[in-house]
Amino acid sequence: MVDLKGQYLKIKNEVNDSIAEVIESSAFINGPKVKQFQHNLENYLSVKHVIPCGNGTDALQIALMALGLKPGDEVITANFTFIATVEVVALLGLKLKLVDVDPDTFNLNIKQVEEALTPATKAIVPVHVFGQGANMEEIMRIADEKNLFVIEDTAQAIGADYTFDNGTKKKLGTIGTVGCTSFFPSKNLGCYGDGGALYTNDDVLAEKIRQIANHGSKVKYFHDEIGVNSRLDSIQAAVLNVKLNYLDDYIAARQKAADYYDAAFKNHPNITIPIRNKQTTHVFHQYTIKVKNIDRDGLKEFLNENDIPAMIYYPYPLHLQNAYKYLGYKENDFPVTEELSKVVLSLPMHTELSEDQLKFITDKVLEYAGK
Ligand SMILES: *Cc1c(COP(=O)(O)O)cnc(C)c1O
Repeated sequence: MVDLKGQYLKIKNEVNDSIAEVIESSAFINGPKVKQFQHNLENYLSVKHVIPCGNGTDALQIALMALGLKPGDEVITANFTFIATVEVVALLGLKLKLVDVDPDTFNLNIKQVEEALTPATKAIVPVHVFGQGANMEEIMRIADEKNLFVIEDTAQAIGADYTFDNGTKKKLGTIGTVGCTSFFPSKNLGCYGDGGALYTNDDVLAEKIRQIANHGSKVKYFHDEIGVNSRLDSIQAAVLNVKLNYLDDYIAARQKAADYYDAAFKNHPNITIPIRNKQTTHVFHQYTIKVKNIDRDGLKEFLNENDIPAMIYYPYPLHLQNAYKYLGYKENDFPVTEELSKVVLSLPMHTELSEDQLKFITDKVLEYAGK
C-alpha cells in the first residue's frame, strides 16, 4: 500500500544528516529539532500553535482533556473512521454519539449530526477521512450556534485546504477549536516511528495542551492537574523537519496517481471513483473505490494474488465491535457505514507510484471487474 523505502532513498542524505545531528547532540527529548519542527509546521499550516506529542491517538485524548470535558458530556463523531477517534472518547468516560456518514464523501452526515444534538452535547469530532475535508462550513455553523467545541481529526488529511463559501481558505485542522494529527509512518506526513501533534489558534488552550501532555505540569515537579506523558522524540522531529519540505510534492504525487486511477475507472458501470468535493482539496491518504455487481472480496484476493496490496478500510463498523456493544447500537442503525464496509476497496496509494505500476494495477482491476 505504501513504499516508504523508495521515498526514503530519495531524501536519504538529508534525513540521515538530520538524524545524525540529534545523535551527536544527544538532545533526544525536547531537543532543538522538536522546536524547529513545531515552528516549521506552524508556518506551513498558518496556525499560531503546534504542540507535538507522542502519536495521533494521544493528540485526540489530550484535546478532549484540555477542553475540560467531563464524564457524561456527549461527543458526536463519525462511525466510519479508525478506532482511535472513538476509543479516546470512551476511555475518558465521555458519551459517544456515533452518526452515519455521507455515502459519497464518507464524511459526517450533517443532518444526522443535527439530530444527534442534545443539551449534553459538548463537542463534534469531524474526521477528514481518506484525506478530504468534512463539511466544515456546516459543522462550524452548528458549533457556533450551539456553542460546541470542534476537534478535527486530521490524521489522514494534513496539508489539505478548505475553502468556505465566503472565500476564506484554511488548512484542515486549523478551522475548529483544535486539530489533531498523526505522523505514523504511512500517513501523508509520516515519521520513522510514532508521532503526533495538536494545532490551535487559542493561546490559553495551547498552554493547557502543553501542560497536559507534560504530566499536567508547567513548572517541573509541580502538577496542577492530571496529565499524561506524550512527546514527539527528537529523532522523529529530525525526520519530519526534512519531510515537511516535501509535503506539497508528496500531495501532488498522490493526486497524480489518483488522476490516473480516476481516468481508468470513471466510465466503468460498476466502479465508483472517489468524489472530489469543491470545497476541499483531496490529499488522497487513501484512494477508495466502491464496487457493485462485483465480488469485492474476490477482487481484493485477485489483486493480492497479483502482488497488489489492496485493503479494506474499514471492514467492520465501529458500532458492531465487541468493545462498543455497551453503546447499545445494533445492526441497521447505520446503513451507510454498514453498506460501505461491504463495497469499499482501497488501492495502493503513495508518493512513489510509477506509471507502469499504475497501469498494472488498473489493468488487473479491470481484468477482474470486466471492461
Ligand atoms: C492514524 C489515525 C489516528 C491515530 O493515529 P496514531 O498516530 O496511529 O495514534 C487517528 N485517527 C485517524 C482517522 C487515523 O487515521
